[in-house]
Amino acid sequence: MPTLHRLGEFGVIRRFAQQVRVDRSVVHGIGDDAAVIHLPGRRYGLFASDMLVEGVHFRRGTPGFRVGWKALGCNISDIAAMGGVPRYATVSLGLPRSASLDWCDAFGRGLRAIAKRFGVNLVGGDTVRSPRIVVDVAIWGEVEPRHLVLRSGAVPGDWLCVTGRLGDSYRSGKHLRFVPRLREARYLVPRAKPRAMMDLSDGLASDLQHLAAQSGVGIVVDAAMVPRTRGATLQQALHEGEDFELVMALPPETARRVLRRHPRWLALRRIGTVVRAPRGVWLEQGGRRERLLPKGFKHF
Ligand code: ADP
Ligand code: MG
Repeated sequence: MPTLHRLGEFGVIRRFAQQVRVDRSVVHGIGDDAAVIHLPGRRYGLFASDMLVEGVHFRRGTPGFRVGWKALGCNISDIAAMGGVPRYATVSLGLPRSASLDWCDAFGRGLRAIAKRFGVNLVGGDTVRSPRIVVDVAIWGEVEPRHLVLRSGAVPGDWLCVTGRLGDSYRSGKHLRFVPRLREARYLVPRAKPRAMMDLSDGLASDLQHLAAQSGVGIVVDAAMVPRTRGATLQQALHEGEDFELVMALPPETARRVLRRHPRWLALRRIGTVVRAPRGVWLEQGGRRERLLPKGFKHF
């Protein structure tokens, strides 16, 4: 019997996924930022959840407001990464008896603040006792089928582009205050026509492995083009994670157009190219090309 450590997070997920059967209402199940569900009429539902655990995703002492903001923020980010809009969320909360009511109130305020900003209706959840704080948000969104973007559509020749800047999310506090890139995604989807997209939670190097594998392509990242947070090293930008930016593969024609002319609020940069071979993820630096291996956070 292999251990959790041997399998790793994605080995464990694969084990679950292999045993799951879904009916025809499911367009895409396990494996993307959100599941895609057929709805009556010409729409798809998007369904995802993300869990935060005290001591793993935030420290004891992190203000409740920030935990509430982040808990819904990372779910909104997953819906944005599919090209859709978030609509409804439930919030399940595990609390130690020692948790203060002030913390809980602040948590509620953070949650409501980001929900209001992004038009998300909070419609339920669950509250239980737990040895440490655990927050699990489930989110429901919608997307027009023509705007749906999976991780699997990148083709050779596409430009790899990223929103914002990467790295140093923990020390800077960005991982608690980020603004999910919903506006950016909704602007880009009809105009730049991304062929594949995902949000960056585990670190560019780790996350790109999924995009490359699911699209059956290679990805070459140009080290000099990766936009870094001020003060962040290249290693941080590539591996640290919790950036909650969007990475996407754009057809070169539309990429050229949006990179040349776009609104001021949209930060988008090219960082690489999709290639047919070699498969996998590569980093080009000083004329040398080497494999870009995932070194991000490991759960097990
Ligand atoms: P993200 O970081 O975008 O939220 P994850 O890396 O957490 O995505 O998960 C990858 C994929 O595996 C997602 O499609 C998610 O729904 C699925 N997944 C994760 N854990 C489980 C599980 N325990 N059972 C079934 N599917 C899971
Ligand atoms: Mg995601």
